Amino acid sequence: MSTMSLKGVNKIYDNNVQAVYDFNLDVNDGEFVVLVGPSGCGKSTTLRMIAGLEDITSGSLVIDEKDVTQTPPKDRDIAMVFQNYALYPNMTVYDNMAFSLVLRKENSNVIHRKVMAAAEILNLKSQLNKKPKALSGGQRQRVAIGRAIVRHPKIFLFDEPLSNLDAKLRNSMRRELLLLHQKLNATIVYVTHDQIEALTLADKIVCMSMGYVQQIGTPLELYDHPANLFVAGFIGLPSMNFVDSKVFDGYIENEYFKLKLDEKNNELLKDYRGKEIVFGIRPEDITEEGDTKLTVTVNENLGQTTLVHGVIKDKKFVCKFKRWATYKEGDVINIGFKQDKLHFFDKETTKAIEA
Ligand code: ADP
Repeated sequence: MSTMSLKGVNKIYDNNVQAVYDFNLDVNDGEFVVLVGPSGCGKSTTLRMIAGLEDITSGSLVIDEKDVTQTPPKDRDIAMVFQNYALYPNMTVYDNMAFSLVLRKENSNVIHRKVMAAAEILNLKSQLNKKPKALSGGQRQRVAIGRAIVRHPKIFLFDEPLSNLDAKLRNSMRRELLLLHQKLNATIVYVTHDQIEALTLADKIVCMSMGYVQQIGTPLELYDHPANLFVAGFIGLPSMNFVDSKVFDGYIENEYFKLKLDEKNNELLKDYRGKEIVFGIRPEDITEEGDTKLTVTVNENLGQTTLVHGVIKDKKFVCKFKRWATYKEGDVINIGFKQDKLHFFDKETTKAIEA
């Protein structure tokens, strides 16, 4: 298995569109790295540069301490799994998986052993004689992964592999990918626009927007300590609630409520007194006790939790309570904000204000 580094990587397409700016990342051996961000943020471009399918305009790519910036794709020892599977329709599952090894002129016993091992891991043993069209979407995706596994590549690249599957299948394939990673201990770089996939799969998340890396960290780091407003709003569903607020000694205030600060938060915001900041609170960090009045618009029961949508004056708020709540439209409820879960952002730089 393998390590990889991208250093100061930029991508400018021929039409002068700069898709990626100064991308820096270290991938450790066996690490599952997820590039996540909205459509157009540059994640596929980055993946394609790693695969060698796009030139790197400037910067370098190092795999296992060897600079491969100029190395052709076939010599990088990387396997890519695409969202559209790219299977050969006229070949059986077995032949699809064996194909790259046949091209490499591997010994037929070795090929058989590798295909059978991959089929075992991917639960495809009973499907080996079928053609792709006779398989479900999830099975096809597994064949595409099998094709990558048999090659024992240094690095696996996944480009939105689950986006063509329906919601239920996506959930089960997500779990399969986790199991697969546990079994193979492979180094993986995985692209998705789905922040849930990023949170569930990644050892390390790279969150991107408009061609720039916004934050790199573990899922928990991005969730609990988003580096800026973009990451705070993108990671987490429903999204964090934000309110422009003014800082005073001991409290913050906005059009909708006044919020007392404990000693720690008061100290944190000391330099911002008299200034505007953005206050943020995740739906689950709102409590059903406090002195802020929320008028309920929708009570959405999800089983173990309830999403309560409401307004404070005209400002929309979403709360997530850990119980089966039964509020009605128009109910006025008291809410509060957990002091150790408050987020504050600098209005100009959008960066998180943290100790
Ligand atoms: P993502 O994968 O995050 O959706 P992409 O990497 O596909 O984003 O695209 C990033 C930016 O680069 C977008 O603005 C897109 O329009 C542009 N882009 C992608 N491919 C090309 C190309 N072949 N030529 C010119 N611009 C491109």
